[in-house]
Amino acid sequence: MSAIAENVRAVREQIAQAAKISGRGAGEITLVAASKMNDAGRVREAIAAGVDAVGENRVQELLQKRAEGAYEGTSLHFIGHLQTNKVRDVVGVCDLIESAGSARLLEEIGRRAVALGLTQDVLIEVNIGKEKGKSGVFPEELAETLEKIGEISGVSALGLMAVPPILGPERENRRFFDDMMKLFIDIQGKKYDNVSMQYLSMGMSDSFREAIEAGANMVRVGSAIFGERRYN
Ligand SMILES: *Cc1c(COP(=O)(O)O)cnc(C)c1O
Repeated sequence: MSAIAENVRAVREQIAQAAKISGRGAGEITLVAASKMNDAGRVREAIAAGVDAVGENRVQELLQKRAEGAYEGTSLHFIGHLQTNKVRDVVGVCDLIESAGSARLLEEIGRRAVALGLTQDVLIEVNIGKEKGKSGVFPEELAETLEKIGEISGVSALGLMAVPPILGPERENRRFFDDMMKLFIDIQGKKYDNVSMQYLSMGMSDSFREAIEAGANMVRVGSAIFGERRYN
């Protein structure tokens, strides 16, 4: 077994344990391999090992690897910061844009989707820690943003996504995961056009167990699958 396949197996096992703790089955959790800085060959290895989707952060890198056939046979997510001038490169190319974090971006995505004659699935990114310089709508702006989606053609919001502040030990993340789960449940009880709360995407390599225990049903795992990224 390759290292990547072995890692995916180990991650799946931990997902199953965390799902069980929260009263769910492993099959209810979508595992997204966050593959930034890993080449097409490694992405294909992860797909062969059975991840449910692949998530990319950078548009340029995504287009390059896509041209190399990296994502065949899997669902492709965009999970990074998306600039409005790059929207045209990902709409209709990604199955899910997880990082739709402003009304302006949603409008731009809708415009492009309508031009292509399709509906783009998105998640609304929430800046749950209200951190400066981070993407995502603030929790108190969420209702207004969801209201607005009803007026935007070409966009279907399938849930929420968050990258909470890193506070050191895993446990401290839990508060933000719990806050996200509250928002998720709260919205499920309301009715917004073009919005259906199916996915709650939160948790990365060092926090996916905590996130699942708090209620996440989509996790984005990078280094625990591919190994440490080498920045140079
Ligand atoms: C890189 C990244 C991840 C995965 O991070 P790891 O710590 O390597 O698991 C998840 N979500 C987003 C948005 C990322 O950019």
